[in-house]
Amino acid sequence: MSQKSVLAEVKQVQLAVELIGLGARLQFLEAEVGLSRERLIRLYKEIKGASPPKGLLPFSTDWYMTWLANIHSSMFYNIYRFMRSHDDGSDLQALIKSYRIYLEQADLPEGSTVLDFTRAYTMVRFFDSGMLQLSSCTRCAGEFVAHAYDDKHDYVCVLCRPPSRAGKVRAAKPAHERRAPRSALGRPGLTAGLAGISMARVAVT
Ligand SMILES: [Zn+2]
Repeated sequence: MSQKSVLAEVKQVQLAVELIGLGARLQFLEAEVGLSRERLIRLYKEIKGASPPKGLLPFSTDWYMTWLANIHSSMFYNIYRFMRSHDDGSDLQALIKSYRIYLEQADLPEGSTVLDFTRAYTMVRFFDSGMLQLSSCTRCAGEFVAHAYDDKHDYVCVLCRPPSRAGKVRAAKPAHERRAPRSALGRPGLTAGLAGISMARVAVT
């Protein structure tokens, strides 16, 4: 018989349920949750109604550089960085909170995703291992995700210099549905750099 505390186990199950709900992959769950692989798979199937996808996490740092991904990634990472500096909780709790705030702010149509939870997590790991950095835009002063060691000197962000196709996607949402940005996090850099994205409902809880 395992001597593991029942309460501790319930907490792990709750954490797994929350992470699965956010879209975490099985590899991530195995690394972060203290439950057996079998139990995680069973939980996953119960919650998602399907087996977890197989295969390795396929991402490279390049994904975060395409313009829409870069906007979302930068928005998420600025929230995450803020959380880390204002919250005493674990890295994982900061990740979960930041991702929830990001989802709320991104306000994407039901079922669509740009930065999924696994990509958000992978990005944090890329930052931790020094493969990504934040570069400050020389025009809007916002801080955006960039390759580490890229020249920061003349950096111009994807919002200040969007590719020509970008306008189509940016115009997809009717103007009356957009919320006015405001500096809800009290960090000018966060909203200034992400002028095209509403930050109106950011609340640190
Ligand atoms: Zn800019």
